[in-house]
Amino acid sequence: MLIKKAKSYGFCFGVKRAVEIAENSKNAVTLGPLIHNPLEIERLAKNYNVKYINSIDEIGKNIKRVIVRTHGITKDRLEKLKNKKVEVIDATCPFVKKPQEIVEKMSKEGYDIVIFGDKAHPEIQGVMSYSVHNRVFVVLTPEELENIKLKEKIATVAQTTRKVKDYLKITEYLIKNHKEVRVFNTICNATFENQEAVRELSKEADIMIIVGGKNSSNTKQLYNIAKEHCESYLVESENEIKPEWFKNKTLCGVSAGASTPEWLVERIISKIKDVT
Ligand code: SF4
Repeated sequence: MLIKKAKSYGFCFGVKRAVEIAENSKNAVTLGPLIHNPLEIERLAKNYNVKYINSIDEIGKNIKRVIVRTHGITKDRLEKLKNKKVEVIDATCPFVKKPQEIVEKMSKEGYDIVIFGDKAHPEIQGVMSYSVHNRVFVVLTPEELENIKLKEKIATVAQTTRKVKDYLKITEYLIKNHKEVRVFNTICNATFENQEAVRELSKEADIMIIVGGKNSSNTKQLYNIAKEHCESYLVESENEIKPEWFKNKTLCGVSAGASTPEWLVERIISKIKDVT
């Protein structure tokens, strides 16, 4: 059996960086689980004593260092953390920091802020909190803008994981209806690179194995793309691999969700080799 990995898969730059920060911050805690992968969380706890807490209020005398996750936190929560007199280790992805900085700067210059994204997502709550005024509007469709009376100076940013084609609908509406629109492309391509790579490989492979959490939406997306083109399986661990899947197949493609560590991918590959 020939095994081929997708050109791009697994951890994105921001998650890789956050995991390295955690590995270098022994005995720290993260504010919420660092990534959506229980095995990796377990590894960080076991090997580096980096565990997680769910709320700033859980910080007691025994906690000295706190890691902020890739999607960042609100300005208020950051302040609250600093008041706890703990060392704050900021693992906010630089691609998330960017829209935070833009919103701060443009709001200071008097621009209304339009954010294309999901208001309930922690990344967006963090980005919104950087505005110095309250004229910040979070929308997912241009229709939502129809009922908002915006000023003539507007600056717009997007949630990092959104699609460019959907952001264009928002910017098109703004440009058609307003005189000054500053558009910032804050979309990160990491998720789309993994999707494109899985599409390419699944067209060529006889079978695709997608590694990742069954509750991870980006892993499920990869699986859905793969199964459009060939027989595909989504697995969380090597124990799920079945020898009969590989009968009469020659090329097995492998990809992994954005929260799947490399060591888990390698474990799966060696299991495939064992059973074929
Ligand atoms: S912004 Fe991009 S690189 Fe950063 S954590 Fe999110 S997906 Fe990863």
